[in-house]
Order: sequence, then C-alpha cells, then structure tokens
Amino acid sequence: MKNIVLIGPSGAGKATLGRMVAKTLGYGYVDLDEMVEDKTGLAVLDIFGDQGEEAFRDMEARAAREVGGWSGYVVATGGGVVLREGNMAALRKNGFVIFLDRDQETIARDIVLDYRPLLTGGIGKLFSLIQERRPLYENNADAIFKNNGPWEETFEQLMRVIRGAGFAGGYAVIGDPIAHTLSPLIHGAVFTHLGVDEHYRGIHVPRGTLGEFVESLEGFGIKGFNITIPHKQEIIQYLDEVDEEARLAHSVNTVVVRDGKLHGYNTDMNGLMSSIRDNGHEFWGRVVLILGAGGVASSVALKAAREGAVHIIVLARRVAAAEEVRQRVQGVVEVEVSVGDLGGEDLPRYTALSDVIINATPLGMRGYGEDFPSFEFLKAAPKRALVYDLVYAPPLTQLLLHAQELGLGTCGGLAMLVYQAIIADELYLDRELDKKELYKVVVDQMNKNK
Ligand code: NAP
Repeated sequence: MKNIVLIGPSGAGKATLGRMVAKTLGYGYVDLDEMVEDKTGLAVLDIFGDQGEEAFRDMEARAAREVGGWSGYVVATGGGVVLREGNMAALRKNGFVIFLDRDQETIARDIVLDYRPLLTGGIGKLFSLIQERRPLYENNADAIFKNNGPWEETFEQLMRVIRGAGFAGGYAVIGDPIAHTLSPLIHGAVFTHLGVDEHYRGIHVPRGTLGEFVESLEGFGIKGFNITIPHKQEIIQYLDEVDEEARLAHSVNTVVVRDGKLHGYNTDMNGLMSSIRDNGHEFWGRVVLILGAGGVASSVALKAAREGAVHIIVLARRVAAAEEVRQRVQGVVEVEVSVGDLGGEDLPRYTALSDVIINATPLGMRGYGEDFPSFEFLKAAPKRALVYDLVYAPPLTQLLLHAQELGLGTCGGLAMLVYQAIIADELYLDRELDKKELYKVVVDQMNKNK
C-alpha cells in the first residue's frame, strides 16, 4: 500500500488533516518532525537553536529515508522537507504526494508563529518562505489541493482527491494478520483480465476493531470486501442482510455494499464445489469423509449434506467436536452422519467406504509443524476416491503425494481458495464469469509471481 505524503508550508494543515485522513482510511500516521523529536529526545525548536538548521535537515533526511520504506502511512512533513531532493525521492518511492496549498493570509490568521522555528522572524518571514518554496512544492506534488475553508469542509474535499487517486473505493480483504494474504494477487489478476478498472488491497483490521472498520466504511468508499481470520463470524452482527448459505455456515467471507447497505455471503463452499466438479466429482449420492471438526469441517459437512451426500463421516482427535458437527448437520438436513476418532482404527475403516476424503485439519500445512503420523490409511481407499486437501500451502502436501502414488484422484486447497475469490468477484461485479477460464488466469499469474 502506498503512503500519502502531505507537503506544504507551516500552517497548511498537514498534521490536522493528516491525522483525520489516517483515521478514516485505517492508515498509520507519522509526522516527520515528531519522529525527529522522538529519536533525538529534543524539540525541533531546540535543535534549530543549539545545532543549527543543517543539523536538523540531516536528521529530517534520515527520517524521510526510513519512512520511504514504509507502507500504508499518512506522512505529515515539515515545511522545509522539499529543500533536499533526496528527501522527496525517498518519500515518493512509495508515496503519493499532495501539496496542501493554503493561502498565506489564511495561514497567517491561523497559526501561532512562536512555535515554528523558521517563523520567529514574524509574518514577513512566513510569506517570503512560502513564495520561495512554492515552486518546490508544486514540482514535487502528484496532486495540488487548495484548502482555504474550515477544516471539516476541507477534509471532505481532500478525501475526494484521495479517493480519486485510488486510495479508497475499490475492493479489499480485511483480516488480522493480513500481510501474507493471496487475495490481492488473485482478485487483481481477475480484474486485470476482465479489464475492470478497480483496485483490490489488503486492510489490516486488528482483532477487536471490526466495529470501527465498519463505521469508517463510508470514508473508505469501498464497494465490497472479503473477510478472513478472525472476523468471519463477528462481521455478521454488522450486516443488513445475510444469505442462506452464510447464515447456515455462520460464517461470512464476502460483503457487497449496495446503496450503503451491507450484504453478506459465503463463497467458500461454492468454491469448494467448483473445484470438486473440476475433478469430475460430486457430493450427490456419495460417501464423504471429513478429517477434522473445526470451522471449515463443519461448513464442508453441511454443504455435502445439502448437495445430496448419502453418508457423512467426521473424524476428529476430539470426538466430542465431531459429535457437535453431526448435530449441526442433522439439525438442517436429514442425512446419515457417523463420527469417530481420527487417530484410531476408525480412519482406515471409514476410508474404505469413502468416495471423497477431505482433510480439514491444518496437518501438513507449511509452518504448522505437524503432519499425519502415517499415510497407511490411504491404502484402504477405493480406486474411485478423490483425496482433497484443504491446505493450500504447500500446493502439493504429503497427503496428496501419497494419494497420487496410490493412483487416487487428488485436489489441493488452492483450487477452493481461487474459486471462492472468483465467485466473490461475480457478486461484486454482479455478473456471471467464466470461472474455469479465470481459474487458469489466476494460476498462471501465481506461477509468474513465484
Ligand atoms: P480450525 O477451526 O482451527 O479447525 C482445525 C481442525 O483441525 C480442528 O478440528 C482441530 O482439532 C484439528 N486439528 C488441528 N491440529 C490437529 C492435529 N495435530 N491433529 C489432529 N487434528 C488437528 O481451522 P479451520 O478454519 O477449520 O481450517 C482448517 C484447515 O483448512 C486449515 O489448514 C486452513 O488453512 C484450511 N482452509 C482452507 C481453505 C481454502 O480455501 N483452501 C479455506 C478455509 C480453511 P481441535 O479442535 O482438537 O484443535
């Protein structure tokens, strides 16, 4: 995410507006002068007085270089930041620069000159600095923003400039953590292929701050967003409408904003279905074995039941959790559900009966540190069986490798991840998309990015 860098003379509103913009967009906020003060433990006024302007400019340059490497920040700068070309080169590297152009008479009316180091020479000094630096502000700006009105009015106008520059609007994925999300890559590839002129970005919404994010949605101007861990359940209370699949799964992964109202959907399970059908399989009339009894296992069991599976088997290391899944499913659909112990004899016994075997545990996931203790149970699987691993990193897990060695059909979790995103795009764009074609487009893009 790019930074938004505010430049302009003292009193132009960089700190006041910068804080308001950061809060509205959910960005971080940093003031270069305050950064220098924090790092040195000295007030800017004292640095100027004791060490001279050049010493301060060196410190400011170090701060600008550091901030140039950050992302997702609104950066308020000192009036003289434009004096050194290197400062602006550093800040522009990942920054969109806005010159806050406030009339000198309005500034003179507003500011307290005593606290601004270079303005102790009075109003005449202020005016000559503004005139001297104006060409530098103009030359370094991506956008020039005239702000002579009261702050509230000015802020609304500035947000329009920022939205227009692509910092708001568009689509997003929210979660905590969000740094490693693949969603911007997937949706970006779909939008580019379709010629949709929209951006898609990740927004870090820390646990416990979902309500604040929803409140600030109007400021973001976002048209829709995906939701990942840990907000899929909590988001439901903020929605105006929740579709049936999401309500039954008690999990929303896609929100579409229509006329200011929030509509929630769950595209995960249809993503799973598309990938199963790609492999020539169905749930209808099949025996489905699910390993694990967590959030996704419960949704998969429900989906399998609603899609016509004749027998669902849930094996978990805590049989009580599998029993909860059984009750949930049978509360909605009349279907045979068996439960058992993932670690015991149940595993090979039930594997022998199954058409579709789904790993809904994190076993084998990169960084999880644990895998299935043995893959012997796969030898019991009928030759017709599909082994589906919901884990998508790595794309080829040990479970899938062992299944392939036995000649069984396999599918990795990446397919569900990509399909659920494409189905979310259908909701965002309100049109049917060629999912198979887009799946290939996304996978090609992922391979290029490796
Ligand atoms: P979850 O709610 O935490 O559930 C995990 C399940 O796995 C629980 O039943 C848990 O048992 C069990 N488990 C964990 N460690 C285990 C171990 N060492 N041995 C045996 N069982 C173990 O997680 P989730 O949200 O359902 O996600 C499960 C997996 O699906 C994750 O790997 C996730 O990445 C993947 N997933 C993929 C997609 C996709 O699009 N491909 C989408 C969603 C999820 P306890 O309850 O006893 O801890």
